[in-house]
Amino acid sequence: MAQQEEVFKKLVSHCKEYGYVFPSSEIYDGLAAVYDYGQMGVELKNNIKKYWWDSMVLLHENVVGLDSAIFMHPTVWKASGHVDAFNDPLIDNKDSKKRYRADVLIEEHLAKYDEKIEKEVQKAARRFGESFDEQMFRETNPRVLETRQKRDEIHARFTKALNDNNLEELRQIIIDCEIVCPISGTRNWTEVRQFNLMFSTEMGSTADGAMKVFLRPETAQGIFVNFLNVQKTSRLKIPFGIAQIGKAFRNEIVARQFIFRMREFEQMEMQFFVSPGEELKWFEHWKAFRMKWHQALGFGAEKYRFHDHDKLAHYANAASDIEFEMPFGFKEVEGIHSRTDFDLSQHEKYSGKKLQYFDPEQNRSYIPYVVETSIGVDRMFLSILAATYCEETLEGGEVRALLKLPPALAPVKLAILPLVRKDGLPGKAREIMNELKFSFACQYDEKDSIGKRYRRQDAIGTPFCATIDHQTLEDNTVTIRYRDTMAQERVTIDSLQQVIAEKTDLKYLLKQLTR
Ligand code: ATP
Repeated sequence: MAQQEEVFKKLVSHCKEYGYVFPSSEIYDGLAAVYDYGQMGVELKNNIKKYWWDSMVLLHENVVGLDSAIFMHPTVWKASGHVDAFNDPLIDNKDSKKRYRADVLIEEHLAKYDEKIEKEVQKAARRFGESFDEQMFRETNPRVLETRQKRDEIHARFTKALNDNNLEELRQIIIDCEIVCPISGTRNWTEVRQFNLMFSTEMGSTADGAMKVFLRPETAQGIFVNFLNVQKTSRLKIPFGIAQIGKAFRNEIVARQFIFRMREFEQMEMQFFVSPGEELKWFEHWKAFRMKWHQALGFGAEKYRFHDHDKLAHYANAASDIEFEMPFGFKEVEGIHSRTDFDLSQHEKYSGKKLQYFDPEQNRSYIPYVVETSIGVDRMFLSILAATYCEETLEGGEVRALLKLPPALAPVKLAILPLVRKDGLPGKAREIMNELKFSFACQYDEKDSIGKRYRRQDAIGTPFCATIDHQTLEDNTVTIRYRDTMAQERVTIDSLQQVIAEKTDLKYLLKQLTR
């Protein structure tokens, strides 16, 4: 774990050094849990968003897009339940004065039991070798059984406390489990309190005062309130979906782990409207499709897992997260929720307007049920960097840091590098650049030795470099250098466009999703 933390620290400074992510307002010492995306970061982020948008909207004839405003009528948040119930249970350590989410402290404690069991299993597997029967070991080993029993007891108490909204019991679990503050190392805890996560501000100024409005904590409500506008103007029939990408704001209590938990972040959400009774079928469908979307990036299936919710929100009848193995453990990147007709019913109730769909096949009107897929752009961004950042020691001892980004997502697809800054090579390189820049993102670089330039491109994750040398002037060929293998290959300038496009075009990634 310590080694993983070291890698994570390096990743954070790599992001800053190469223009991926900067702390917000850095010259004023930053603003907690707010970050800016630099010249490389914005390109990667845009590519992630395009991959999501095209996979949802282009590939599905029955999914359309929307861009709703961040500000919404304040009653929206009353209806959605956010004013009354968008809370986190928080607890403070009196010695360190640090604030934590009580549920997260307990979840992390539970994960330690799981780790302990896995270690026992691995140890036994090494000891028994070929003859090891893992299932039998898990079911009979006394140490595993004892640990599992303790874990299950705490887990049952925890789930019940969450479901009953029992804050005292949450605190008691923390005390009983002897959970300490990671900073002070003490168990000197305050009571557990609820804390609303919405930011508010004021709109307009009238003699009677301004109206209190909220910065949206999720993009989904913009989709719900536009459900009939979109349905009527698009004439889509159920089942259909509405997709949206946009900023969301949450006054997170524990804002740690870089861009994993931010106070201003971006979501990519899709609400899929279905006939009542069909929702669990669609829930399974979208779970499978979304997992395929993640796995198509090629980081390895073992990096992902589903985590079914212990505590279902009162309106949900199924919920599962897709978790990714971050350097700090498996963490939620995306949530898939079957939200029943809760949101539309609430908006009907609070607005007094009918939000029903007339189903010509069933010859009746009803409030549709909704299956939602909700992913954070920033967490996706972090998972990609965590999966692709690595260091390699080369012959001669030099270390190269590189991002093995999937070519379709890389900010720069092709670096165009004249071998030297003379003999007409820069001019020839510019000629190639001016032609190829219409097809994909290219970067021209002539400063420093060719070795240094390759390292710079490795560090920003450019999958291909084209080097223009003296032979280029004679036979119109260039060297393509591959980032991951460092292999080199000579191709004609005429074929360069096609060769690179074939390897970097998003359509090849999208095609994998339809297989
Ligand atoms: P968590 O339990 O980690 O707080 P959540 O369950 O509240 O997350 P959702 O409300 O389901 O999250 O939001 C959907 C997605 O939005 C999450 O899977 C995550 O990728 C992203 N997200 C939520 N909160 C944040 C945040 N503070 N910073 C960055 N991304 C976030």
